[in-house]
Amino acid sequence: MTLHIPFDNTYARLPSGFFSRQAPTPVSAPSLVAFNDALAADLGIAGHDDPRLAAVFAGNALPEGAEPLAQLYAGHQFGQFNPQLGDGRALLLGEVVGRDGIRRDIQLKGSGPTPYSRMGDGRAWLGPVLREYVVSEAMHALGVPTTRALAAVRTGDPVLREGPLPGAVLTRVAQSHIRVGTFQIFAARRDAGALQTLYDYTLARHDPEADGPADLLQRVIRWQAALVAQWMSLGFIHGVMNTDNCTLSGETIDYGPCAFMDAYDPETVFSSIDRFGRYGYAAQADIIVWNMAQLATALIPLMPDPEAAVEEFTAMVHAMPDLIRAEWQARFAAKIGISAPRPEDKTLIADLLTRMQANGADFTNTFRALADGTARDQFTDPAAFDQWAESWQARLGAEPDPQALMRRANPAFIPRNHRIEQMIAAAVEGDDAPFHRLNTVLARPYDDQPEAEDLRRPPAPDEVVRATFCGT
Ligand code: AMP
Ligand code: MG
Repeated sequence: MTLHIPFDNTYARLPSGFFSRQAPTPVSAPSLVAFNDALAADLGIAGHDDPRLAAVFAGNALPEGAEPLAQLYAGHQFGQFNPQLGDGRALLLGEVVGRDGIRRDIQLKGSGPTPYSRMGDGRAWLGPVLREYVVSEAMHALGVPTTRALAAVRTGDPVLREGPLPGAVLTRVAQSHIRVGTFQIFAARRDAGALQTLYDYTLARHDPEADGPADLLQRVIRWQAALVAQWMSLGFIHGVMNTDNCTLSGETIDYGPCAFMDAYDPETVFSSIDRFGRYGYAAQADIIVWNMAQLATALIPLMPDPEAAVEEFTAMVHAMPDLIRAEWQARFAAKIGISAPRPEDKTLIADLLTRMQANGADFTNTFRALADGTARDQFTDPAAFDQWAESWQARLGAEPDPQALMRRANPAFIPRNHRIEQMIAAAVEGDDAPFHRLNTVLARPYDDQPEAEDLRRPPAPDEVVRATFCGT
């Protein structure tokens, strides 16, 4: 069947200052690595067997109805405000309204230079493309709000990084690509008209119920508080929580040097460029508040009485840590089988985490093992677990079905860093089997899959990944 994408574009109707129209730059020899049939079906996209898929998702052929454009935005990068960023290597092809009635962007990433490329080549190499494909789809299967991956294509062209690497293009699907940085650019330019237009557009797209900018801010704060608590409950570290990588939809976006921890350590940092641990595992709960303060600042000019708004928004941002704590507590309580958390459960959870850290316990496997009674094996000193388990068992007394709750909250499978690295190394050699296997297993992260036990194993000492790199 021929490929048909039912485009229904709205961003392209916004004023021209919001983006630059830009066609993708063709590549030499597109070949399809993956096409996400299930996601395509949900989006109403037909033609998964069309031989032109590779050409279309490499940017060599534009599908009917596409209106490619590079979006403009700004952002705080590691605390420094950059007044103009924008899609330097990505292009929005257009939007589709899925079977669920939700509008989503379809974006090519790695499709060539744009007016916002600065010194970059507008390209991506195969490693980060496959990493984002696997991790974003795994996050979705884990139940985390996230952008998705529709396709990955090899370009046949080398991309020059430290040396030549195989080039690739990812097709990303998102509820929108509106970032905190999208509001920041118009606020910084004091362009009240554009800010109002963006606000109206965001409201219509994400939050038709919201009643004014304060209400929008409150909702985004709630979504982001829930999101970061959920990341932490899975041991996920985003790695580059710059304000341009923080969405108004509450979806996880921009999988660069992201990683899941193996052994529990709240200070874990993977990203090679995060030298001060600004975006480390536990720091995420603080930095998201900082990011929401930047959103609040950008929304102030929309308010009729800016001085009163400063006071109101400050109070909302200051209340965010409590929201995160409540979300965190609910998530971690479920992880130990508690359905209705009480304030004092925080001590029980913290005590377990402290013991896990001291005993080199694997984050994912320890929580998963709680339900089958084998968690003590994860501790170098199993007695440290046994002591904790006494208070835990006492607390669980009245819980109706803690085992079932824990199995829903604690995945067996996460995309472990060393498996991702091994998968990329194989794909660079032309072997995509590990990539497909990871996708298959990670589509059911809460199910036991005896044939995939090897993917649950933490890294052997020589497999440990200590640093991850940006997708550039
Ligand atoms: P990121 O850290 O991936 O969120 O990217 C930050 C900014 O750098 C964004 O504006 C990107 O579009 C831009 N960028 C990243 N890599 C490239 C590249 N290879 N070529 C052009 N722009 C890039
Ligand atoms: Mg980004």
